[in-house]
Amino acid sequence: MKGPAVIAYLVCLVVGQVPSPKRITYEGNQVWKIANKTTTLKVLKSLEQDKRLTIWGLTPDGVDAMIHAGAVDQVREKLLENNLEYKVSMEDVQKAIDEENPKAGQDLEGRKGFRLTWNYYHNLDDIYDFLHYLEHTYPKLCTVRTIGGSAEGRPIKLLKISNGRKGNRAVFVEGGIHAREWISPATVTYIIYQFVSGYNKETSSMRGLDWYVVPVLNPDGYLYSYNIDRMWRKNRSVTKSKECLGVDLNRNWGYDWGKNGSSEDPCHNSYGGRKPFSEPETTSVARFFLDNPDIDWRGYVSIHSYGQYIVYPWGSPNAVLDDNAELNKVAKEAAVNIVSAGGETYTVGPAGLTIYPAAGISMDWAKGSQAIKYAYTIELRDTGRYAFLLPAKYIKPTAEEALIAVRTIAKAVAS
Ligand SMILES: [Zn+2]
Repeated sequence: MKGPAVIAYLVCLVVGQVPSPKRITYEGNQVWKIANKTTTLKVLKSLEQDKRLTIWGLTPDGVDAMIHAGAVDQVREKLLENNLEYKVSMEDVQKAIDEENPKAGQDLEGRKGFRLTWNYYHNLDDIYDFLHYLEHTYPKLCTVRTIGGSAEGRPIKLLKISNGRKGNRAVFVEGGIHAREWISPATVTYIIYQFVSGYNKETSSMRGLDWYVVPVLNPDGYLYSYNIDRMWRKNRSVTKSKECLGVDLNRNWGYDWGKNGSSEDPCHNSYGGRKPFSEPETTSVARFFLDNPDIDWRGYVSIHSYGQYIVYPWGSPNAVLDDNAELNKVAKEAAVNIVSAGGETYTVGPAGLTIYPAAGISMDWAKGSQAIKYAYTIELRDTGRYAFLLPAKYIKPTAEEALIAVRTIAKAVAS
């Protein structure tokens, strides 16, 4: 600690507070949607290498990138030079961060049972307390267990929902593997609550399956994104690099690990780790599968944002599934059901060809290593207007869409 930091620390000690690290600001950063031509990704990746921008995502109408404060002119010049059109989709990233999650209001005061709402994005404690609330309130349906610990030692909690009958088919639902995709844990907890609290009205295929749900597979990253760096994606483990922390947990699974769409650079957002399953978070799930060979896995659903996609293997390798037609049919049906209910449009297809190639992802591991037939990744709202910073007022409509998709997958799994 240097002089001023020491003084700040002492002041905090005197007033009885532990100094908290400062939040990272994204003031002056913008998000641009850039036309997706053959050269786009190459140009953007070289600008990313030079720390001028960070690629956020591929959407049906272009590539979104966050242009770093101070680099706007250079990036504009480079795009013009390469004939790449763009439009500014977010004028100021910090402003979007400030507006995304209003402070919890009076509706949290005096609540009994649990604090979790779907009007705000909540911290990890509220999410975990909610799981235990369900276990206490619906003991015949719900059990909570800890399947492992994160890199920083936080528990990874799994909720099992089951009618207790022997021989049920099983579905694994994984949320929050990417820290900054806050809508994922919010959606997963919403689905759980609708299912459990309205159990008797739920579809028979949902009720006839055993559900294993991890709402936050990356608890360290989620908290770091919640408290310090809103745009954090990876976990928080120490890497071989001195200056960069974190592994992209959705590049760390032991199927086709380290191939296309995964980085070897610990400072990169898609760093796949030093080897497959190097991370305690991914290992906790793999070990749970290994320790429970009697569970009849038939479905795996990984929930992310954003882009509005319902995709299936492969993310990598670049090959077509034998049962491509069957998986496509279910994904299409889910997308149609969402639109019929007044929801948004979701694009359907094999992940690698529909979005971009990504190797070492959980969905491919589920399909390729665990032979789980119905393996899906759902990329929730939106298509780039708010991107990762989807305002909290959209949690419920987004989660409703995901619930429809999960019901559609459940019907296929159960039949
Ligand atoms: Zn993601």
